[in-house]
Amino acid sequence: MTARLDTEVRYLKGVGPQIAERLAKKSILTIGDLLFHLPYRYLDRRQLSSMNQLTPGKDRTIVAEIITCGPAFIGRQRKKIFEIVLSDGTGRISAKWFHFPHYFISQYHKKMWVLLSGEASVYNREIQFIHPEVQILDADEAPFTEAPGIIPLYPLTEGIGQRTIRRILLAALEMSGDLVIDTLPESLRKKNRLLPLNEALHQIHNPEASLELQALNDCKTEGHRRLIFEEFFFVELGLALKRRGIKKEKGISFKVEGKLFDSFLSNLPFTLTAAQKKVLCEISKDMEAPQPMNRLVQGDVGSGKTVVSFAAAAIAIQNGAQVAIMAPTELLAEQHYLTAERLFTSIKLEPALLTGSTPKDERAVLLKRISRGDVPLLFGTHALLEEEVRFQKLGFIVIDEQHRFGVMQRALLKNKGGSPWPPCGQQGRPNGVLPDILVMTATPIPRTLAMTLYGDLDVSIIDELPAGRQPIETRVVAERDREKVYLVLEKTIARGEQGFIVYPLVEESEKLDLKDATQMAERLRERFPEIAIGLLHGRLSGDEKEAVMRDFKNKKISLLVATTVIEVGIDIPNATLMVIEHAERFGLAQLHQLRGRIGRGEKASRCLLMVGGARSEEGRRRLAVMEKTQDGFKIAEEDLAIRGPGEFLGTRQSGLPDFHLANLVRDLPILNVAREEAFSLIDKDPELRLPEHKLLKKGLATLAGWWQGKLELASVA
Ligand code: ADP
Ligand code: MG
Repeated sequence: MTARLDTEVRYLKGVGPQIAERLAKKSILTIGDLLFHLPYRYLDRRQLSSMNQLTPGKDRTIVAEIITCGPAFIGRQRKKIFEIVLSDGTGRISAKWFHFPHYFISQYHKKMWVLLSGEASVYNREIQFIHPEVQILDADEAPFTEAPGIIPLYPLTEGIGQRTIRRILLAALEMSGDLVIDTLPESLRKKNRLLPLNEALHQIHNPEASLELQALNDCKTEGHRRLIFEEFFFVELGLALKRRGIKKEKGISFKVEGKLFDSFLSNLPFTLTAAQKKVLCEISKDMEAPQPMNRLVQGDVGSGKTVVSFAAAAIAIQNGAQVAIMAPTELLAEQHYLTAERLFTSIKLEPALLTGSTPKDERAVLLKRISRGDVPLLFGTHALLEEEVRFQKLGFIVIDEQHRFGVMQRALLKNKGGSPWPPCGQQGRPNGVLPDILVMTATPIPRTLAMTLYGDLDVSIIDELPAGRQPIETRVVAERDREKVYLVLEKTIARGEQGFIVYPLVEESEKLDLKDATQMAERLRERFPEIAIGLLHGRLSGDEKEAVMRDFKNKKISLLVATTVIEVGIDIPNATLMVIEHAERFGLAQLHQLRGRIGRGEKASRCLLMVGGARSEEGRRRLAVMEKTQDGFKIAEEDLAIRGPGEFLGTRQSGLPDFHLANLVRDLPILNVAREEAFSLIDKDPELRLPEHKLLKKGLATLAGWWQGKLELASVA
């Protein structure tokens, strides 16, 4: 019988009803599903040692049965360790853990077969493993009777042993043979030296002994590259199609030259950096074009994104459009509003502010003015998204610190044709004309990654800080040196500069034993009666926050005790000291953002990271990174390395499919190529009409399922 990819697994040799049922539980229904059930790791049986031949050294691997296991106490201090004693019939060896998670106790049992790998060392003239990697083996694969070689290990499926699943897969490979349809066009494959799908699958499920184990385990073989490329390629193909759709949308052709834009630039208290100019130029080209702009501006904290967005706003306003600028916190919206007041007054333009705490009557009046088109420049928070906010002619939208908006903001971008962005309806958006959108973020990630994660956005990068910025000296300080910190604090304020002290929580929590901002502000006021100390946290009303920020900006307050409400955007160039309490509790991105509140002027700044309790290994690494560098791109890289891509990027939120194999960070170079190829293919054949592209629609259709129609691929497939 010949099989097709959609042939059910039960037709395979060795798959009875029972196994078919168990596979079905893992959503493995067809031969195709089975072939894409990929090994998560490979085991090297080429170098398996038996205990009587084991020599001390790195990368030793044994397969053995557990004789005893459990916690043990050693030394005079009766330190608790975890010990496993194993035998493989040729000898006995023990493995020890000086730190171990609690689940170890229930995880390992007598008579269990395990694969152990790590460094074999000698202690008391016996060989032992310290903190080795352990793999629990199924009863049916130990002791090993198979021929030596590289053995793939599959994610466990209840009731199906490794050996069984391997056997089934080999049968599937054999049966499917040449029938594995290659959806990638041959020319594309040739050009990028990609293996045919069939060969790639063979390499992955049944690797030859000549392959590097490391390459297999790191997904770096040619077989892996082929599958990873394919996964990326179809995502990018979808994006390219989507992008084509956007290019057809109707936008506004703004005229860039004009009085407002010119005088805004000439009235600036500084000259733009080359990077700011470059990005502004990219933006204005988009604004001139008849299609709507969808652009992301990435720039490290303090790189001066705000002023760039204001200049772009001036372009829209001089063309008679209304502009909305949205920020994630009231504090930031308020600050932008104040900055705009400052930068725009000389050119007689009055901005407005709308947040959740705008008083009711004021809000009613404002809403009316917005709907009449009397408000050219509106700042606000999520409050701008509310139903009642209607513009007369909204032409340009800025979303600052977009990473803080998450899913909602993305939905907003995707549905910008209608709600939830205030639909300007008949009056505001004649003939379905869409406004230009600019989103800004200080969370830097590589360009292709950004373009993929943010789908249909073009990306600009401000990769330079304004001249004259001093590096921020960053130090980790232990609790016992608190007095030294206070000394620095007093000196800073005596020089007429200002400082922040940041706390993780607003109110004392007995459990966490954190110093609460409110309490600390009180204590500091007692201790330093001569210093004007302000307090800022999320529980204050909008008016109260506003008052505190104004006082800080006007230097009526010299020291601001705050929670993380000041994390994003706050811009006080005279602030030169940042003390972060319990710094070990903050993530890297957050620490970087917080530190970004200082070093914004020409004076030297200091960031002191206070650490209270115990630090985890990870916490230690984070703080070391902060001491070492100030570069947001480097910090993002380290963050990626420490946290792993899943948590860092939150792909689940980004609307990307769960890749089988591809890893957005590890495989970035492959993503770059796949994107380029996909976009150039759609350029040449936008409707996928060429015969050699027929199969691509099929590949896209699978993806449409993954994305649940997010990219509206149905229309092309
Ligand atoms: P971010 O990119 O973090 O949002 P901001 O837009 O808040 O940065 O700018 C940081 C500070 O740098 C602000 O005080 C701003 O006025 C100032 N600034 C922006 N551009 C320049 C420039 N070209 N030269 C000097 N200072 C600048
Ligand atoms: Mg900003």
